[in-house]
Amino acid sequence: MTVGRENLLSINGLRLQQGERILLVEDSVALSTLLTQRLEEETGAIVTRCGSLAQARKNIDEGTFLLALSGLNLPDAPNGEILDLLVEKEIPTIVFTAMFDAETRDRCTGKKIVDYIVKDGTKTVDKVVQTVSRIIANSAHKILVVDDARTARSELVEILNRQNFQVLEARSGRQALEILTADETIDIVITDYHMADMDGYELTRRIRQTRNSEQLRIIGISSSSDRLLSASFLKAGASDFIYRPFVHEELKCRIDNNVETLAQLNHLRRLAERDDLTGLANRRHFFSTMRQHGKQAIRGSIALLDIDHFKTVNDTYGHDAGDAVLQAISAVMADMCAPARHMPARIGGEEFAIYLNHLDAFQAHSFCEELRNTIGGLAITAGSRSISATISIGVVEFEPDETFENQLNAADQLLYLAKAKGRNRVYSTLTIPEAITPTASVES
Ligand code: GH3
Ligand code: MG
Ligand code: MG
Repeated sequence: MTVGRENLLSINGLRLQQGERILLVEDSVALSTLLTQRLEEETGAIVTRCGSLAQARKNIDEGTFLLALSGLNLPDAPNGEILDLLVEKEIPTIVFTAMFDAETRDRCTGKKIVDYIVKDGTKTVDKVVQTVSRIIANSAHKILVVDDARTARSELVEILNRQNFQVLEARSGRQALEILTADETIDIVITDYHMADMDGYELTRRIRQTRNSEQLRIIGISSSSDRLLSASFLKAGASDFIYRPFVHEELKCRIDNNVETLAQLNHLRRLAERDDLTGLANRRHFFSTMRQHGKQAIRGSIALLDIDHFKTVNDTYGHDAGDAVLQAISAVMADMCAPARHMPARIGGEEFAIYLNHLDAFQAHSFCEELRNTIGGLAITAGSRSISATISIGVVEFEPDETFENQLNAADQLLYLAKAKGRNRVYSTLTIPEAITPTASVES
């Protein structure tokens, strides 16, 4: 079933990203200087500074700003008039304020600002930089808002857009499932409980059949006073729950916490899947990915690579030079593999494997020849020296119904032959068509 585009997108056009312009309105020169320096260094944004309402007006007339940071009281506008200007010009705004009371809060939330920061001595600059970084990072996240009541949905969408998220909307549980199937990059779902076709509990349960909480966060919402609702949402696999009417700060903090958790999980996953020295996939990740493919899904070839006489490199130039060679060779593999989404991995000390996505025996052989040539032609810098290195490769095309282990074994036998026949060469079934089948053993 297809989903109409009009249902999929309610993303506002402007999104704060690196290199975008920020307007900083602050009359304290010390704070403004410090903020400008830190923001430009740490967020990559370009900051325009001004210290009065009049100057701010002039800057806004002359340029486009995707975000404003502003104090509330300026020499020529002592009562927060700057907020009226920024709101009128529809510039998303983060306010920092020295005093914070109920009245200031109402004024800020009434004006629909992005966030407010209470000045806190030396911590103020850190807080502002963190907030801006978070707003920039939000643009990478896609949130699906599910609610059958249009007003409630719009309210939430508007709040999320202001936080610089990409926002999609669904009018029902069924539509939410369609949208999630069509777009695997959605990483947060916020869903109402009471909906005509499917309640939030059932929707959560169904989403969890295919997407776990490391991939997708689900936040339940409801205006019901039934406290058991939150328990049932959480039991179905929701990550969090919020009661309506929202306290804006609570809503924002809960969403931020979930985004933060996703970021940490992603970071940990990357660490667990990568080889430290080379940045390639590590052995465990490579094998588990290949096994997950299953016999039928694998189309292509597998290459095993081993650096020739690598022990001599270490013995002659030292271990650090050896590391530099491993890194340089890995960089070539990563570069050559990326365009066609081949998967290179470091599976041992100086041993590598590449899953050659959809390459048949001929294509795989010529890819490996090109790789061997490129690596052989490298002048690798290690300290003041320039080192060269060669590799041997064994490569086989996957045969239907053959196990991954048998294919790997066949590639290993070919690699062994390449070594035995003099190194710095590629061996495949094309080199010796009659000799190798995935399960045959090779004697040399
Ligand atoms: P062949 O051509 O037969 O493959 O010979 P080789 O010397 O490359 O093979 P051998 O297996 O004898 O030696 C591999 C060497 O790789 C031994 C080991 O010290 C080195 N090695 C393994 N991991 C690392 C590493 O992370 N860094 C460095 N610098 N050396 C490593
Ligand atoms: Mg080896
Ligand atoms: Mg070797």
